[in-house]
Amino acid sequence: MALETQAKTVVGQFDYSDEDVNKGVVEFLRQMAEGLEKDGTSLAQIPTYVTAVPNGTEKGLYMAVDLGGTNFRVCSIQLNGDTTFRLTYTKVAIPRELMVAKTAEELFAFLAKQIEIFLRTHHGDHFEAHIRRRMTISSPEGFKDENVFRLGFTFSFPVQQLGINKGTLIRWTKGFDIPDAVGKDVCALLQTEIDKLHLPVKVAALVNDTVGTLMARSYSSPGKSGAILGAIFGTGTNGAYVEKLSKLKKPLAGEYDNSTGEMVINTEWGGFDNQLNVLPNTPWDVQLDKATPNPGMQMYEKRVSGMYLGEILRLAVIDLLKNTDATFFKDDNSSSNDWKSTTNIAEHSPIYKQWGIDTSVLSVAAADTTPELSILRQELECNLHVYAPSLEDAQAFKAIAGAIGRRAARLSAVAIAAIVLQTGRLTDPELDGEPIDIGVDGSLVEHYPYFRDMIYEALRAIKGIGEEGAKRIRIGIAKDGSGVGAALIALVAAGMEKSTSTADFISDLRLNAKKNDLTAVPEHSELAAGE
Ligand code: ADP
Ligand code: MG
Repeated sequence: MALETQAKTVVGQFDYSDEDVNKGVVEFLRQMAEGLEKDGTSLAQIPTYVTAVPNGTEKGLYMAVDLGGTNFRVCSIQLNGDTTFRLTYTKVAIPRELMVAKTAEELFAFLAKQIEIFLRTHHGDHFEAHIRRRMTISSPEGFKDENVFRLGFTFSFPVQQLGINKGTLIRWTKGFDIPDAVGKDVCALLQTEIDKLHLPVKVAALVNDTVGTLMARSYSSPGKSGAILGAIFGTGTNGAYVEKLSKLKKPLAGEYDNSTGEMVINTEWGGFDNQLNVLPNTPWDVQLDKATPNPGMQMYEKRVSGMYLGEILRLAVIDLLKNTDATFFKDDNSSSNDWKSTTNIAEHSPIYKQWGIDTSVLSVAAADTTPELSILRQELECNLHVYAPSLEDAQAFKAIAGAIGRRAARLSAVAIAAIVLQTGRLTDPELDGEPIDIGVDGSLVEHYPYFRDMIYEALRAIKGIGEEGAKRIRIGIAKDGSGVGAALIALVAAGMEKSTSTADFISDLRLNAKKNDLTAVPEHSELAAGE
């Protein structure tokens, strides 16, 4: 049973005890406080200028796009105003070569093209009407404002937000590396490419996916006090939560409405504990980090999120393959296991390539509870080109994969618990046992079996939360969260155009129209598309 013993040793290195979890929470709270006081800390705590969460009565037709890391999603959302919505959407994988393109233009032109395809497919009438109108006038700017879609741009990378639709890229993460884009306003980059295609679309709001998730959860399940946290467990991981303005000590550059006394803070928790005060650090974590474009950064994310879990597993598997005592994925004697044929790995197996194992394989391993592990063995055979894996092989693989997934879930509980404690809601007498709402999104939390259960298990072991506290914490998937959330923020942005600067906005349009000798700008315009 050499293999089983060896696998147990590997599994043991991914243990993350209740005591570790509690230490993690204390350190998370400390780094949160630090980030609220000054810039440049590992937990960046970026102010979003969003000072209220929705209540479910919002209405209108909006567009949203989401550049997440793995996919680009384009959607339109009809908000019905009764906590429900109708969403139409398409999704394309981002070509790997564009993630490391020479210029930002290449990536953003691709994004604009996807918006055009979406409009033609799903809003053909709207699109054709716009094109017809354009042909009757002499300038692309001459479209009616009410025919312009307000678009919420979910851009899930660290951004210095300078206004509701303006923000400069601080750095790329999740394997993206286009130096040309760093420091540029990503909304302007997208609008430029949209304008080149003459699309009737205005980038109205820049949204972090975590903020979108928080908004979407608040719209769909408005409790007494709205959701407190939106969290992503997808390609990367991050969270945004509602903080009291009085705790935000660092100076704010932009203007904001302080009537609610609160502001949504984008924690950028992927960078939690880059200094490794408390994070676990196995040899495979070290190896993985060294091989990324951003070593020493996003150290929490590299132990938690979809982009990395498969790779950690791959590195651990490779080590076990090198171990001559363990007969992992090989047999010198085929009678030593339940297969007649010889177990072996193809030379071209993705196991030998960086990023070769997708995190979805961990989900397959966790989901397979058949006694023979036949589903996992099929997956190993078909996708990883391991031929005739034995039951022992599959059991070892499943045990290691499970340990990595479990550690990720328990680490996720650290961030969630710290934020729940930070908001003080558990002990707020006014809330009197009310649920504490948390919206989550991302393929990992959505598809990894029992991910949420493992989070709850850890939450119950945390000082200050315990059994009772864990019962009050309601973690719900904010389905299509980023789309709905982005639409809600685009709505807020359209409202701001209306209330604060409608007059300026229209007079600007008229001025442009005069310059271009146009007459298409309406005298009485309804600015919010679809309202
Ligand atoms: P994005 O981060 O681009 O918004 P997703 O939320 O879909 O996109 O997350 C994609 C990540 O989730 C990828 O890293 C992928 O490996 C991982 N993933 C996809 N499917 C699964 C699954 N079934 N189980 C676990 N992880 C998955
Ligand atoms: Mg996403």
